[in-house]
Amino acid sequence: MLYGIIADIHSNLEALQAILPELRGVDQIICLGDIVGYGPNPNECLEVIRQNRIVSIAGNHDRAAVGLMETVRFNDSARRAIEWTGAELTPANRKYLADLPLLLKFPDFQVVHGSLRSPLEEYIFGLKEALPTTERMSKNLLFVGHTHLPLCLKERGKEIINPGAVGQPRDGDPRASFGIYDSDKNLFTFCRAEYNIPPVQEKMKNAGLPLSLIERIRFGG
Ligand code: ZN
Repeated sequence: MLYGIIADIHSNLEALQAILPELRGVDQIICLGDIVGYGPNPNECLEVIRQNRIVSIAGNHDRAAVGLMETVRFNDSARRAIEWTGAELTPANRKYLADLPLLLKFPDFQVVHGSLRSPLEEYIFGLKEALPTTERMSKNLLFVGHTHLPLCLKERGKEIINPGAVGQPRDGDPRASFGIYDSDKNLFTFCRAEYNIPPVQEKMKNAGLPLSLIERIRFGG
């Protein structure tokens, strides 16, 4: 099976549209959460997810946008964006987000937004945070999102992979980040796709979203 592995779209429709042609040949696309938050097109991104039958789990922003998670740990810009997002969502998209599971298990791997110890909140940046999660893994491979940083960690026969963020990369490369997993070969390929950033920034400006969020997508930082 070929899987498209995507994460942290963050309401960035142009970035999402840029990666879909690259994933045309895969059998299934899986989203590791944070479909919404930060960006200007939450409803449109959710329509694309639903129309393309992309399987998704919930991220912290998805939960917060529908009032199922406190925003106390969000910084000021993230909180302002999530309040804006919550007011924009259609009832159908609100229900879709509220119903997303926290974890999913596939024949060869598991998926979670943050970590298996704390699905919505913990960030896996390195081996230190990875250890409590590897102990909880029932498969040898786990895909995570949340940090917006592409990552591949191996520890005691277990592997944790983060495909990076589609809609708000933070590794200094503004192109949309994602990956393709070939389960027959047990091979993961990191991919990047360029997209037109200024129209996204323009829509963010018009929506009154925080300047820091508008700026950072240009640098990928
Ligand atoms: Zn995120």
